[in-house]
Amino acid sequence: MPTAFWFQCGACGGDTMSLLGMETPTLVDLFEELKINMLWHPSLNCGGHLSYDALLQDLRQGRQPLDILLVEGFVINSSSPSGGFDTYKGEAKASILEELAARAGVVIAVGTCASFGGIGKLGSVEATGLQFFDKHPGGLLGESFRSQRGWPVINLPGCPVHPTVLKDMLFAVCGTNLPALNALQAPEDWFGVLVHQGCTRNEYHEFRVEDSDFGGPGCMFFHLGCRGPLTYSPCNKILWNNRNSKTNAGVPCFGCTQPAFPQEHAFFHTPNIIDVPLELPNGVDRAHYLAYKGMAAAAAPERLIKRKSRV
Ligand code: SF4
Repeated sequence: MPTAFWFQCGACGGDTMSLLGMETPTLVDLFEELKINMLWHPSLNCGGHLSYDALLQDLRQGRQPLDILLVEGFVINSSSPSGGFDTYKGEAKASILEELAARAGVVIAVGTCASFGGIGKLGSVEATGLQFFDKHPGGLLGESFRSQRGWPVINLPGCPVHPTVLKDMLFAVCGTNLPALNALQAPEDWFGVLVHQGCTRNEYHEFRVEDSDFGGPGCMFFHLGCRGPLTYSPCNKILWNNRNSKTNAGVPCFGCTQPAFPQEHAFFHTPNIIDVPLELPNGVDRAHYLAYKGMAAAAAPERLIKRKSRV
């Protein structure tokens, strides 16, 4: 029976909400099916501080084996002594985390903050991810860190993580093989596709039938800040709550799975030069893009233009 332990650092709790909101299967069914013994999760356990203290000591000293360490939130390093802005009983959580990670069979960074530093890395708390700071390997544990199973930290970015991604990773690590990871140590299966792929607004993007105000069916890349063509994430491959995605519902993708998230410029706005976005879809050459988009807009079929203006 694999044991799991959920450790919260600088977090809003969004990834916990994702975990609790798992639908198919439900979290309870998932734990039963995989026979996971969740030793502690702050929203699931009610043993109080005394049992938590004892468990933490047992884990740190190796008396309690730990198969899966799940970390939510960025690691805070600032203040004196180091890490003093985020402590448990006066001890920096960063140090506790280093000890737990060294003993764990596998370490999973749940969400963008734990993966890359996320929102915390913008502030003054010297926050970092577990094995990355932004897109740079290193983070708290260092580039060479390997868990007891010989694996690097598995990053599951997202603000929050998609529940299906978390569920699939739990299935994978309860088996024997490390799933294929990309250069950012995120599972290739889920983070090898762009949000743009599968968006219901794709045809509008293709012909540059765009929206400059919310509420229409057009593409939001050119004016409304959509980062779908720049963001690797399965949001339009596996819908949220099996029903919808942000872009399908008319909200631009904010690129929350990317290491640089959150961006420095305003959301809901695309920085442009003469009506052409400064950042183009991944891997696209500017000169070709300008020529192609100009022709595509001229070739836009009436049905798309009309459908857009009806809304
Ligand atoms: S709204 Fe965003 S994800 Fe959808 S087609 Fe436009 S750029 Fe792509």
